[in-house]
Formats: sequence, C-alpha cells, structure tokens
Amino acid sequence: MALSLRAAASLAAPPAHLRPRRRATSMVRATVSPPPALDSRRRPQNVSGEFFVDHRCIDCATCRWMAPEVFNRVDDQSAVAAQPTSGEIRTKALQALLSCPTGSIHTDKPTKDILQVQNTFPLPIDDDLPGVYLCGYHSENSYGATSYLIVHPEGNIMIDSPRYTPKLANQLEKLGGARYMFLTHIDDVADHRKWAERLKCERIIHSGDVEDITADVEWKLTGNGPWNIGTDFELIHTPGHTEGSVCLLYKPLKALFTGDHVAKSEESDDLNLFLMYSKQSVGVQLDSIRKLLDVDFEWFLPGHGYRIRYEDVYAKNSAIEALLADYTN
Ligand SMILES: [Zn+2]
Repeated sequence: MALSLRAAASLAAPPAHLRPRRRATSMVRATVSPPPALDSRRRPQNVSGEFFVDHRCIDCATCRWMAPEVFNRVDDQSAVAAQPTSGEIRTKALQALLSCPTGSIHTDKPTKDILQVQNTFPLPIDDDLPGVYLCGYHSENSYGATSYLIVHPEGNIMIDSPRYTPKLANQLEKLGGARYMFLTHIDDVADHRKWAERLKCERIIHSGDVEDITADVEWKLTGNGPWNIGTDFELIHTPGHTEGSVCLLYKPLKALFTGDHVAKSEESDDLNLFLMYSKQSVGVQLDSIRKLLDVDFEWFLPGHGYRIRYEDVYAKNSAIEALLADYTN
C-alpha cells in the first residue's frame, strides 16, 4: 500500500480516622483478630471490595469508558462505583487496570488472572468495525490517549502511540505488527520511537506538529491535503487543536479517527470540541469541524473518551451542525 504525500485528485492508608476501629472490650480482644488495615492508596470514594482507584488518578476517563459498569467519576477523579458482578465485567475491569496510564487501578491482592487478560489485547471494538482494535496500555505522556490498530491486507496501521510494553508488542506482532504509525498530532505521540524501533513501522505526522520529539518521523505531511494511504484511507487536515492535527478516515467502514480534534462529551451524547485546549486557534478549529460535514462517515473514534456511532451520515451532520450552532451563537 503506497502512501501518497500529494493531495488526492478527487478528495482524497487512609487517614487514621478512616481506619476501622478495634472494639476496646477485653472480652473480644482476646478472640477477634483485628481487621486488616485499608490500603493507604485507596481513594475513600471507592466502594469497598476487590478493585479500587488510587489518589494519583489523572481523570483521563479511560477506565470509565472501558468498564462503565465498574468505574465512575467522583470528585474529579475515577472511583470504583460497583464491584464487578460477573466474570465478563471483571475482565473489563482488569483490562482497564492494564490500560490506566498512571497504574492507578488496583486489586486488593495480586491476581493471576491478569496474565490471561494481557493476552486479550489488542481489543476488538465492534462487529461492525472488523479489524479495528484498541491497543490499551494508555500512556501518561499523552494524558491517557487511546491508540488504535487497524489490521489491513495492505499493511496494518497503528494510530497514535500506546505505552510501550514488550507484552503488547508481542500481541501486536501476532496480528502482523504495523506498517505505518499514523500520529494524529503532537500530544499523542508517547512512545512512538520505541514502537517504530520494535515494529519497524514508518511514522506519519503533519509538518505543523514537528518538534524535537517528532523530528525523526519518516513521513511529514505538508500543505492541506487530503492525502491517501492506499485506496481505503484518507488523511484529512483538521488544524485548530494543533496546527498539524490530522484525522484518518477509514473509508470502507465509515470510521473517522479524530485525535483531539473532536470527541464526545462525557456528560451527554453531544459532540465537544474542548476549545479550552485549542492550542492553535478556535476559529481554525471551527472551520475544521465544518469541513467534516462533507466527509462520509458514521463513527467518531477519538483520541480521548467515548466513541460515537451515528445512524447515518445525516445524523452525523446534524450533530456537527448542532455543535457549530452552540459555538457560533
Ligand atoms: Zn491534543
């Protein structure tokens, strides 16, 4: 599969006061052993039980969308709202534990099951997105950004960089590794160098986001595109969040990987541009979202947070128009 750098012709301990008190009667002291001290890392906002989130959580929301049955947001950080009630949900909680960028999710005692759960990565996303996987193992360097793998007969594409771990590398190699690593923008490059060395993939980033840490990236897109990778993928320049922000469209599946250009609000089904993080220009970012009205897709697969699937392209456009109306009125 050839990467065309030219624009396509058409489109192209808890505090002491929280510790359980021992009853001070001499009668029970002799016969009842003291309760175990609570793990000092455990946020008090967690419900009691096997899983808990610690105080170092950076509120990236990864666990909340990976295992919503277990985790929620309390006081600006994640917490365990309900302990898993089935094996399937417990597996999701362990997948979230492995994906947490700060290693803030724990079980009260070591579990051997974690070894089997490591083998579940990368994770298929949906029956309607065949060959599209979540890499997991989010990196703190990218504030917990999501990395995806697309398995494709003309060469796999990794989108943004997970935390480097040899275990994940082994798992990715079982699926053919990656021919390209497409970097949506400068914030989510994490361990790109280590991955490039291990997988021998060629990295792609827009020249607007070339800094010291990305200077050695093999392919630097210039201009406004769009650019193509083979016939199935189009790269769409969507500046605003950063000058070099680019979305990847997987045309046959109508799936758009948006990096930090646009994502779903956690509180509602609405789209959100997170303009407080717009590093280049709010106006430019709004122009870039308008550009997506002309793009044929139904899935938003963001760099952070929840995925969205619209019923069809018209529903997608209604959501974008509602978003634009919110910001321009
Ligand atoms: Zn960003």
